[in-house]
Amino acid sequence: MKIAVLRERADGETRVAATPETVTKLIGLGAEVAIEAGAGELARFPDADYQKAGASVGSAAAAIKGADIVLTVRRPAAAGLAGAATGALVIGAMDPYGNEGEIAALAKAGVTAVAMEFMPRITRAQVMDILSSQANLAGYQAVIDAAGAFDRAMPMMMTAAGTVRPAKVFVMGAGVAGLQAIATAKRLGAVVTATDVRAAAGEQVESLGAKFIMTDALKDASGSGGYARELTKDEQAAQAELVAGHIAKQDIVITTALIPGRPAPKLVSKAMVESMAPGSVLVDLAAERGGNIELTQPGKTITTANGATIIGFTNVAGRLATSASQLYSRNLVSFLETLIDKKEKVLAVNWDDELVKATVLTRDGAIVHPNIKFEAAPAVAKPAAAKAAEPAKTGATSKAAAPKKAAAPKAEAAPAAAAAKTAAVAKAVGGKVKKAAPIVAPVAKTAVPKKAEAKTAAPKAAAKPAAKPAAAKPSTAKGKK
Ligand code: NAD
Repeated sequence: MKIAVLRERADGETRVAATPETVTKLIGLGAEVAIEAGAGELARFPDADYQKAGASVGSAAAAIKGADIVLTVRRPAAAGLAGAATGALVIGAMDPYGNEGEIAALAKAGVTAVAMEFMPRITRAQVMDILSSQANLAGYQAVIDAAGAFDRAMPMMMTAAGTVRPAKVFVMGAGVAGLQAIATAKRLGAVVTATDVRAAAGEQVESLGAKFIMTDALKDASGSGGYARELTKDEQAAQAELVAGHIAKQDIVITTALIPGRPAPKLVSKAMVESMAPGSVLVDLAAERGGNIELTQPGKTITTANGATIIGFTNVAGRLATSASQLYSRNLVSFLETLIDKKEKVLAVNWDDELVKATVLTRDGAIVHPNIKFEAAPAVAKPAAAKAAEPAKTGATSKAAAPKKAAAPKAEAAPAAAAAKTAAVAKAVGGKVKKAAPIVAPVAKTAVPKKAEAKTAAPKAAAKPAAKPAAAKPSTAKGKK
């Protein structure tokens, strides 16, 4: 059983899918681990440390040759997987919505693509939840980025020269990232308020010592699975009224609001930003899905005419490459433990396991996930082979609600036998092949950098290297799940 880990190809991606620590664990599971040279470099894991842990380190071709499992952070291009064993499991954040053509190319390449972001949010799978592990870090980093761009101190300081008042921080969206942002801002000494549309979030916000703000007009907009539903027009207006009055008095705003399968809700208008004092800082963690702030430019940091800074990084977890890789790679090992027969030390996938059914996108040459539809393309469309040779597209989460047209005829990607399997799997998970409703958060929220980000003029905090050593800190939001 060979496991390959390649260097990430996506622009701006700093993370790696295995660390020396997880290599040791993988070897303990009976695997032979092959790492592409330099794979961990940006996350501060040198090749020598992988070798010490027992991995072989070499070229991409050597690593991939005969691999039964390929671990990645982002979806690799199908062409980059040539040489892997037939049916090899390719496990990572696949970002399938809007990228169905790339998923079809993976199917055609004969690999089994597994989307970690589709992991069900059930107790058993918490340890495999990449959305949570990465969002937790992103919430922390958002506050650090805000503090770095802020021209004043965060805590109250009583000095001989007088008192510095604490910064006022407002967090919008109190899910995993938002709760960690609240905890981090509190630790820095800010006065923190937060809002969410789920009433249950109120108690969690208050348990962190922040004040929860919610309009009476909005009793509770909880949707299914603990996620928020989209607000009605009236609810949106009531929320905007509440936010407008509050935001004008804030120094820092961190937005994290997302709704599964929808573009990020616009919560902060241009007028609201203009109501803030010069030097105010806004960090939009929803930037990769279009942003919660009207003025956000995904991948960029901008300064508005009234002197507010809006930070729109799109791979925020990647700014903590070491910590993010450590947690991400542990999530992968936890999942792999369920796919491997520990006694026999061989791959033994239970295709009926709910975790497997929820995450496997392609199998035996076909797309098998009920939520991923690959439409037949007109005759003039680019052939699938050409598509497969293209690099993996990333940074397209804002396209999530508008899947693009497929580039290859359906039959090419899904032979008849495989299509029958698609229907069988769809049935097994209670969905329909063509119109199944999403069963999990359908967007890789934590794993999509934009090309622009690398070129962006960074705020003060961004002057540091993209990857820096991890800082130990409690995972406050975790206990709230
Ligand atoms: P998310 O990333 O989908 O959204 C972030 C937050 O934005 C959510 O709290 C959401 O309610 C909020 N939001 C949406 N629209 C908003 C609006 N208009 N205004 C203000 N806020 C808005 O959420 P998440 O961080 O993935 O967490 C979603 C839920 O899943 C939470 O209840 C969380 O506790 C739960 N969760 C469960 C597990 C588990 O394994 N059981 C793991 C992680 C998260």
